[in-house]
Amino acid sequence: MADLHNKSVAQLAAMLKNKEVSAVEVATRFLARMGGNPHTAFLDVNSEVTLAQARASDNKIAAGTAGPLEGVPIAHKDIFVTKDFATTAGSKILKDYRSPFDATVVARLRDAGMVTLGKLNCDEFAMGSANENSAYGAVSNPWDTTRIPGGSSGGSAAAVAARLTPAATGTDTGGSIRQPAAFCGITGIKPTYGRASRYGMVAFASSLDQAGPMARSAEDCALLLSAMCGPDLDRDSTSLNVAKEDFSRTLMQPLQGMRVGIPTEFFGQGLASDVRSAIEAALKQLQTLGASLVPIALPRTELSIPVYYIIAPAEASSNLSRFDGVKFGHRAKEFADLASMYEKTRSEAFGQEVKRRIMIGAYVLSHGYYDAYYLQAQKIRRMIADDFQQAFNQCDVIAGPVAPTTAWKLGDKSDDPLANYLADIFTLPASLAGLPGMSMPVGFGESGMPVGMQLIGNYLQESKLLNVAHQYQLHTNHHTQLPGGAA
Ligand code: GLN
Repeated sequence: MADLHNKSVAQLAAMLKNKEVSAVEVATRFLARMGGNPHTAFLDVNSEVTLAQARASDNKIAAGTAGPLEGVPIAHKDIFVTKDFATTAGSKILKDYRSPFDATVVARLRDAGMVTLGKLNCDEFAMGSANENSAYGAVSNPWDTTRIPGGSSGGSAAAVAARLTPAATGTDTGGSIRQPAAFCGITGIKPTYGRASRYGMVAFASSLDQAGPMARSAEDCALLLSAMCGPDLDRDSTSLNVAKEDFSRTLMQPLQGMRVGIPTEFFGQGLASDVRSAIEAALKQLQTLGASLVPIALPRTELSIPVYYIIAPAEASSNLSRFDGVKFGHRAKEFADLASMYEKTRSEAFGQEVKRRIMIGAYVLSHGYYDAYYLQAQKIRRMIADDFQQAFNQCDVIAGPVAPTTAWKLGDKSDDPLANYLADIFTLPASLAGLPGMSMPVGFGESGMPVGMQLIGNYLQESKLLNVAHQYQLHTNHHTQLPGGAA
C-alpha cells in the first residue's frame, strides 16, 4: 500500500479494524519514514518498543478486544513523560531522563490502542513560538525547510505535516498547539483547561498548560480528543469532573444558524494582508455553509501579552525550582557546596529563554513587586475572561487568525524574545481565559506557507469548534495538501 503514510487516523483505524493492514505493517511504514530524522522532529525513537506495541495491537484485533484506535500510530511531544522513551522537555537538564510512569494522556491513548512512534522535539519546557529554544536543535518546517515550524509543539506539527506520523500530542500554554498547527498546515485543538489531565506533563505554567491532539483534520482530532480527555481527579487537582465525551458524534451538524463572532481587535494593523485574505475567504465559506458572522469586541486583546508574560514566567519560576541537580536530571560535576551545586547545575543546563523567564518570574513575585505586577496581571486576566463571556452572549464560536503572519525564516527572531512574544497575541487571550481553541488550515500566504484560522469556543464547547471545522473541511481541501517533501 504505497500511500499508507498518507492515510488519516480515521482511515487507518478502519483499515486496521477490517484487517486490510496490520498494525506491524503500519508501524513499519512510519518507522521507515522517520529514519534519518527529517526536520529534526524526533528526539527519541525505539523501534523495538514500537513494534512490540504494534504486535500487541494485532493480537487484540485478532482476539476481537481492540480499542477504538487500535494499532494507529501516534508520537508524543517530549513534554509528556513516558516510561518506554526518554523525556527531556527539550532541555539539557533532563537529558536521558527516564520516567517511571506514563503521563495520563499517554496512558489513555495507549488504552485506546494507539502505538507510540517516539518523542517529538519542542521548545525547552514549552517556552517559545518557533521551536528554536530546544536544546536539541531547531525543527524545520516541511513546507519550506528554511522556515520555523512554530512552537512550542514544533516537532509535533512538522511530523504530522511531513507524514512521519498520522497524529501527535501537543501542549498549549499560550498557543503552542494552535500556532505550530497553523504554521505547518495541520489541525490542532487545545481543550478547555482541565479537560485533559496534566498528570505527567512536565509543568511550565500550571494554570495555563493544557494537552491536546494535532492531526490533519478535525475528524481525526475529534477521535484523539475523545480518547485523551476525561477526569483524573486523584492525580490532577485541576482536572474537571465532567464525563468523557464522544467528540465525533456532533461533527455532522449543519452550520445553519451558527453565529460566528469576529473580534475587531483580531483584524487590526498588525495582521499581514495575506493572512487576512485567507481568513476572510474562510469566513465567506462558513457563511456559504449557513453560519452568520457577528462583529464582537475583545477589548483587552493587547493586554494579554503583558499579562501572559507575567503570569506564565511567575508560575514557571516556581515549577522549575524542582530542577536543582538533586532529584533528577543533570548535576554539575564540580561544586564547592550545596548552593554552588544548585547554581552551577542550573546555569549549565538551562537555556537562555528558560533563564530569562525564571528571572522575570522571580522578579514579579518578589516582595514589593508582587502587587504591582503579578496581582495586577491576575486582575486583568479575570477581565479578559469576562470579555469572552460578554462576547459569547452574541455568538456561538469566535473566529480569527491564529497568528499575525505565516511561519518566519529560521533565525529571523531567534535573538529577539519580544518579537516572539508579540506573535502570540491572538492565541494568548483564550489561554488566559481557559477556553478551548483550535486551528485549522484555510489556505496559503504569499510565501506559499500555510495560514491557520483560529476557532475559540465557550467552556466545554469543543464539540462546536470541531463541528465547524469538520463542516469547513468537508467543503475545502486545504487540510489534505501535502508539503513538497512529504509525497
Ligand atoms: N509562545 C508562548 C510562550 O513562549 C506559548 C508557549 C506554549 O503555549 N507552550 O510561552
